[in-house]
Amino acid sequence: MNYARHIAPRSTPQSEPLFGQNQVQNSAGGYVYALDAWKRLDRFLILGSEGGTYYVGEHELTRDNATVVNQCYAQDYRRTVQRIVDVSVAGRAPKNDPAIFALALGTTQANPEARKAAFEAMPAVCRTGTHLFQFAAACDALRGWGRGLRNAVATWYDGMPTGKLAYQAVKYRQRNGWTHRDLLRLAHPKAEGERNAIYNWIVKGWDAVSPKVPAYEGMRLVWAFESAQRAESEAEIVRLITDYHLPWEAVDNKWLKSATVWDALLPHMPLTALIRNLGRMTANGLIAPFSDATRTVVEKLADGEHLRASRVHPMAVLVALKTYAQGQGVKGSLKWNPERKIVDALDGAFYAAFGNVTPCNKRMVLGLDVSGSMSSPMMGSPLTCREAVAALALVTARTEPEYHLLAFSHTLVPVDISPRERLDDVLRKMDAIPMGATDCALPMLWALGQQYQRDSYWDRGSRLVPTRTGFIKGVEGFIVLTDNETWFGATHPSAAINAYRQKAGLNSKLVVVGMTSTGFSIAPQDDSACLDVVGMDTATPQLISDFIADRL
Ligand code: CA
Repeated sequence: MNYARHIAPRSTPQSEPLFGQNQVQNSAGGYVYALDAWKRLDRFLILGSEGGTYYVGEHELTRDNATVVNQCYAQDYRRTVQRIVDVSVAGRAPKNDPAIFALALGTTQANPEARKAAFEAMPAVCRTGTHLFQFAAACDALRGWGRGLRNAVATWYDGMPTGKLAYQAVKYRQRNGWTHRDLLRLAHPKAEGERNAIYNWIVKGWDAVSPKVPAYEGMRLVWAFESAQRAESEAEIVRLITDYHLPWEAVDNKWLKSATVWDALLPHMPLTALIRNLGRMTANGLIAPFSDATRTVVEKLADGEHLRASRVHPMAVLVALKTYAQGQGVKGSLKWNPERKIVDALDGAFYAAFGNVTPCNKRMVLGLDVSGSMSSPMMGSPLTCREAVAALALVTARTEPEYHLLAFSHTLVPVDISPRERLDDVLRKMDAIPMGATDCALPMLWALGQQYQRDSYWDRGSRLVPTRTGFIKGVEGFIVLTDNETWFGATHPSAAINAYRQKAGLNSKLVVVGMTSTGFSIAPQDDSACLDVVGMDTATPQLISDFIADRL
């Protein structure tokens, strides 16, 4: 009687927990490891819960993550607030919404010190009028108004230089049903001089302040905004935009069809607005072959330092690239002919937005989960998780001299992508891969020389063909980009990495790049040669390199 075969790691399928290990069942029914609350906080701050996952809806995923955030506050509120501030200020997340929500949860804690810390951190996390409206709306829904919230909102307004305050007031006028007037009425901060004039304008309107201005910088912008609302000719609106650098949000829709108006907006347009309006500027003819505007846009997108200083997130660039290259907006009927130079520039901007990544110069295998569940939208965006993992893997592939890239579902899947290809082509290839079940052990089993792939996909009669012959020695790092919903395989990923380490005589590392804000990981949490990082975190490519090079 061979008792050992019933509990040995190599003979335990993913549908059963590894014997003696503390595993949990993921949403697909397979057994994996559970992340602690702090790692889950990181996943939530970067990925949020918008749109849910392939398995879990947005409602359930959000409730689950809010519970985790509260656990972090209860364990160490200082660390929680600091983490929220760090991720938000560094622009590591595609969206600031999860950070704002997590901070608003801090204002609901029973511990008054925790609430105070959350309020004090608010101006660092809520840097624009939109952020402030989101925070106010969340606090209003979660706890209602009290003195702490009034004071925090008053501090936000009082702490902002008047020129910037006026800009915020003309650019972000309302969100989630909240306006600056609502907030000033609730917080009623006291001020003098120009600041008082701006508050008066916000609360009482232009008629209450117009005779006394425009003496100061901020009020000049307010004056320009009010004049723009009354402008009767395109020449007038163009002059106001050019002289006072009005943002496009301050310009009435009826003027925004004109290429001349966009030409006036372009020189001082913030990069985030520029990236969002490329389709519009192409449709109206401003961006065209050999045009000055095309050259300006290409130059702006090529400025990596400016991209990072403006907190332009690579995922925003990737979404813009996909949308722009399709020549059609996600919503509405706007269509355009994509200008090749702009798509090229967005391709470069995606990589530049991650900053310079120092290579680790180690031999690494990049394993891309392209299974069915990865075809669900990434964070409610027009990108799928499969497209996101491809782009993310290419950031590492672009940096490292020695890598092997493979894709898997329940078998290895042929995929031929390279950082030399333009990303819109890469995304199309990823999109065309047929669906399959999930076995996250395959990158390691491939290196062990134990894996085959089907010569055609989903065809049950197709032959199994060896992907190559034999054992691949010397793999120093396996990077698996996945939602951790593995269930199909006969071997656990952790058993596969251990088998590889033993056979190769190497302490090969395993980095799991989590693409959803669940609490699951294929990595044993007590194995110091394993690391969990978060997909679409701008810090991830450098973290991977540093970990594999033993620089962490
Ligand atoms: Ca899957």
